[in-house]
Amino acid sequence: MVKTWIASVLLVALPAISLASGPTKIASYDRTLWSEPIDSPKRFDRASRQEILAFVRVIDSNPLTDEASIQAFTGIKVPNTDGVERWLSETRLRLVDNYAAASLPCVTTEECPSAGDWQTLALLANKVSIVSAEDRWRSAALGFYSTYLYEQVRLAALFPGVTSEIAKLDEREQNGFELADRQFVLTFDDGPSRNSESDKLAELLRANGQEAFFFALGERLSDRLKTQGLKALGDLYRGQCLASHGYSHVPHQKLAGWEKSLADTRQLTGQIQPELAGKNWFRPPYGQRTREQVAYIDEQGGRVLLWNIDSQDWNARLSAEAMRDRVITLMLLWRRGVLLFHDIHPKVRAVLPQLNVFMQQSDLTPLSCLQLINPTDN
Ligand SMILES: [Zn+2]
Repeated sequence: MVKTWIASVLLVALPAISLASGPTKIASYDRTLWSEPIDSPKRFDRASRQEILAFVRVIDSNPLTDEASIQAFTGIKVPNTDGVERWLSETRLRLVDNYAAASLPCVTTEECPSAGDWQTLALLANKVSIVSAEDRWRSAALGFYSTYLYEQVRLAALFPGVTSEIAKLDEREQNGFELADRQFVLTFDDGPSRNSESDKLAELLRANGQEAFFFALGERLSDRLKTQGLKALGDLYRGQCLASHGYSHVPHQKLAGWEKSLADTRQLTGQIQPELAGKNWFRPPYGQRTREQVAYIDEQGGRVLLWNIDSQDWNARLSAEAMRDRVITLMLLWRRGVLLFHDIHPKVRAVLPQLNVFMQQSDLTPLSCLQLINPTDN
């Protein structure tokens, strides 16, 4: 009895999506601390500037310049110091660019002091003392970015021994940073659900006119195919882009049979959604993959799609609201990207209507999966 109970708890808590080597802290903070509702493009940009400055301040106050400081910050014994440096320099450039983009609608330099390089931006970020009326927001934001910096630096320090979304192995891969300012793509992993969760989510997306990627597991497609048949599965993904998450939810970086995993899943996705046969996009479980796999996917007419906005929706430590607030905060920070959710959890369905309102009011551009797959058709 006890054994069964433990087994069922483990089944709920552990399998498909627990990170092989996940972080111990997850960033989120209560967005109602921000001073105004984000319901217009101007307010989006205003909030975006402040999010960027908060992250700049946190990066600037954590010098991660040598092995000892990165070891102390991440707890990783042998960190990839070059990888961390590369991530930091890319991130600094992105934040300078994003601050400029978020400042475009400003009329006066008082409202948005210009900062065309990292040093100027860091000076600006440190200028605001934490004594004002915005205190509660600012200290929450600084806490958020301290944890977020830890999440990111940890991944960069583990790469490429453990590959992840933190860096590309090859320019043929996409992670969302290639998109234009204010463009976002929705992606859902690990389905189809054993219950009707995936079906409800896909229905909701269709009702909203949204076309998302579903990176499904071959074994789950195969199970559904046996019980429900081909037509039902075709209907499930109608109007959405069905793609591969591998046959089973295992890291493919060290998987001996990866080619079979991809071929078997490709056979299923091609059968269920023949209109996308020959466009075999792949999302590696945990983002773990090899250069050889990237080249293979390219030969199959697909792409490896990573992500840059990880909702952590699978994580029991985040409520649906905390997960939504984390996603909105990262959308304000990065201003573009690929959003990672899971269609086997109800959390995303609960917050999708609010995310859609936020996107509409802020004049953000939802890119459909087909726009990514067939960019020349647009
Ligand atoms: Zn997954």
